[in-house]
Amino acid sequence: MRQTKTSGLSRAATRAPEVDSRAALVVQARLRLILVSSCVTLGFALGQAFGVLTRWEFAVGVVHVAYAGGVYLFLRGSRSRPPTISLVATAVLDASMVFAWELVTGKYGILFTPLYNFSTIGYGLRTGRREILLVSQAASVFFVCLVPVVSPYWLDHMIAWGSAILAVVIVPLYAGELTRQVHAAIRFAETESRAKSELMARVSHELRTPLGGISNAAELIESEASTNRARELARTIRNLGAHLLADINDLIDQSRFSLGKMVLHLEPKTIESQIQVVCASLENRARGKGLMLQCTVDPRLTLPVLMDSRWLSRTLINFAGNAVKFTDVGSVTVHAVLLTETPRDYTVRFSVQDTGTGISEENLEKIFNPFVQVHGRVNSEEGSGLGLAISKQAVELMGGSLRVSSTLGSGSHFWFDLRLEKFEGDAVLGVVSEQTLAPEPPAARPLRVFLVDDNSTNLFLLKELIARDGHTVVTASSGSVALEILAGEQSFDLLILDYNLGDMDGAQVLQTYRFGHAEPAPAWFLTADATLLTERKLLETGALGVLTKPISVRELRRALDQAGAAQGAQAAALALQDGTAASQAPRLRPVSVIYIDQTVIGRLRDIGVSRDFLGDMLKRARSDMTRSIDGICAAFQEGSMQDVRAGAHALKGVGNEIGAVRLATLAQALMRANDDTLEATSSRIVSDLRETAAATFAAIDDIVRTEERAASGF
Ligand code: ADP
Repeated sequence: MRQTKTSGLSRAATRAPEVDSRAALVVQARLRLILVSSCVTLGFALGQAFGVLTRWEFAVGVVHVAYAGGVYLFLRGSRSRPPTISLVATAVLDASMVFAWELVTGKYGILFTPLYNFSTIGYGLRTGRREILLVSQAASVFFVCLVPVVSPYWLDHMIAWGSAILAVVIVPLYAGELTRQVHAAIRFAETESRAKSELMARVSHELRTPLGGISNAAELIESEASTNRARELARTIRNLGAHLLADINDLIDQSRFSLGKMVLHLEPKTIESQIQVVCASLENRARGKGLMLQCTVDPRLTLPVLMDSRWLSRTLINFAGNAVKFTDVGSVTVHAVLLTETPRDYTVRFSVQDTGTGISEENLEKIFNPFVQVHGRVNSEEGSGLGLAISKQAVELMGGSLRVSSTLGSGSHFWFDLRLEKFEGDAVLGVVSEQTLAPEPPAARPLRVFLVDDNSTNLFLLKELIARDGHTVVTASSGSVALEILAGEQSFDLLILDYNLGDMDGAQVLQTYRFGHAEPAPAWFLTADATLLTERKLLETGALGVLTKPISVRELRRALDQAGAAQGAQAAALALQDGTAASQAPRLRPVSVIYIDQTVIGRLRDIGVSRDFLGDMLKRARSDMTRSIDGICAAFQEGSMQDVRAGAHALKGVGNEIGAVRLATLAQALMRANDDTLEATSSRIVSDLRETAAATFAAIDDIVRTEERAASGF
C-alpha cells in the first residue's frame, strides 16, 4: 500500500500540474494593476507634496500603470488560453519595470528589489509552470546584474547589490521547489481520489449483475419450494440481497457525485405526490415503533412543478427514514411549506423533524461525511453511513442547501428550500417507485417473448421467470444472433434486450430491427446502469421502458403486462384504421447514445501520419456520407430499391471506417430490408437518416474543431 503511494507520488511529480493559465494570469494581472496603480498614485502624491517627484519617475509611473491596465484589460477580454509567449513577455516586462524603477529612484531603488521575487513567485505559483518561473527569475537576475552597470549609486553599494542578487536567486528556487512538491501532492491526491471513485463505481456496477442473478434465483426457489423452511430461507436471501443492493446503489451514487457525473431529470409532478410517496414508504416502520408519522403539504401548492422526483423523494425518504430510525418515542413530521410564489415558480421549504435521540453539536459537523455513523447501527437496521452525504449533494444538485439543527435528547430538524418551476398542464406519471407498486398477478394473455442477454446465468433465470407465467420465450446471447433471429420468420409480442451485449448495444439491435418492420414489437431494455441519463437515452429509441438490474418478478410482470396492453391497443388501432397503421407506426427516432465511437477515433488518431490527418479524414468522410445519403434519398424518390441498397452499402463502409456507429447501423438495416418494407417506410427512413446524419455531422464537426485547436497548440 505504502509502496504504491510513493511510486504514485513520484510519477505525478514528474509531470507539470495542470493549472488554468488564463485564470492564473487574470488574477496576477488584477493584483498587478491594483498594486501598481495604488503605489504609483501614493508615490506621486508624496512626491508632489515634498517636491521630489522627478520627470523620469513620473514617466515610469505612467508607463507602469498603462502596462498593468493594458495587460489586465487584454486578458479579461480574451476567452481563450493565453499563449506561452504572453506568459513569457509579461514575466520579462514585469522584471523590466522593476528595473526601471530602480534606475530612476536612485538610492531608494533597493526598496523595489523584493518586487522581483513577488513577480517570479507569483508566476510560479499561479501558472504552476516551472519554466515560466525560471524565465521570470532569469529576467530578474539579468536586470539586477544590470543595475550597477547603469546606476552609479549601486556601484558604491555592492554589498546591498550582492544581497539583492542572492535574494532573487535563492528565494524563487526554494519557493519553486516547494510549489512543485505541493502541486505534485495535490495532483496525486486528486488522481487517487478520482481513481478510487471510478473503481468504486465500476466494481459496484459489476456487482449488480450477479446480485440480480442471486435475487432472481432466490425468487424462483421461494415460489417453487415445497417446505416453509426452504421458502423462509429463500426469502431471507432475497431480503439480504435487497439490503446489499441498497448499499451498492449508495456507493454508486456517492462515486458518481464525487466524479461530478450526476444530472437532474426534471419531470412535472405535484409536491403532494412526493410527500405521499415518502410517508407511504415509512408508514409501516413508524407504526411498528409506535411513532406518529405526520405528513403535511401547504394547500397553496396546487400546481405540478418541474422536479427530479427520484432525488427529491429519495432525499426526503433518507431524512424521514433516519428520523424514524433514531426516534423511539414521539413523532416524525414531514412538511412542504410554501415560502414565496411568483407567476413562474414556488419556493418551497421541505423539512423533516423528529423527537428522537438528537445529534451533538460536535457530531453535527461530521454526519455529512461519507461513512460516518455517530450512533452506530441501531437494532441492526440497515445503513451505510452514506445517506446524508448523498442527500446533501442531491439537495445541492437540485439548487438548495441543506440545513440541520439538533439537540441531544430532544430531536433533530433537517430542512432545505427549493425553487420549483410551475408546470402548466397535467403532471405525468414518472417511474413508479418500488414502494408504490402492489404485487401484480401474472399477465392474462400468453406472449411470445424474445429475450437477449449476453450473461448466460441472467438469460437462464429470466427465461425461467417469464416462462413460469405461461409465456413462450426465445433467447439470444449476443446482438448479432439476436439480429439474425429477428430477421427470420418468427414474430414476437415483446422484445427484452440487455443494453450491453458485448458485440453491440441493445439500442442498436432495436433500431436495426425496427427499420425492417412496419409494425415492430414493443421492447423493454435491461440495464445495470441505473442512471436517469441512460434511461432517457434508451427511452429515446422508442422502447416501452427500462428495467434496472437486478430485476424483480414484479417489475418483469409489469413489463409483460404493458407489452400485452400495447399489443392489444395496436391491434385495435389497426382494425379501426383499415390498414393505414403501417404509415403511422411509432416514428423511429435515432438513438442519441453515441453517434461517433470514440475508440475508433482514438485508433485513427494513433495512426495519424500528420497532425491534420484525423481532421482531414473526418471532413472527407463527412462529404462522402453526405453524397451517399443524398443518393439514397434520390433512389427512394425514383423507387429504385437496388440503388438504395447500393448507397447504403457505401454509407456503411465509410461510417464504419470513422466509427459513425448510428449511421452505419442504419445503413446496415437498409441493406437487409426487403423491397416492400423499404417502400412502405421510405419517408420515415429518409427523415431518420437525415436526422441521424445531422447529429453525426455535428459530432464530427465537434471532433474536427477540437483537433484543429489541438493542432494549433491550444
Ligand atoms: P445511515 O445509513 O447510518 O443512516 P446517514 O448518512 O443517513 O447514514 O446518517 C449518518 C448518521 O447521522 C447516522 O448514522 C446517525 O448517527 C446520524 N443521524 C442522521 N439522522 C439522524 C436523526 N434524525 N437523528 C439522530 N441521528 C441522526
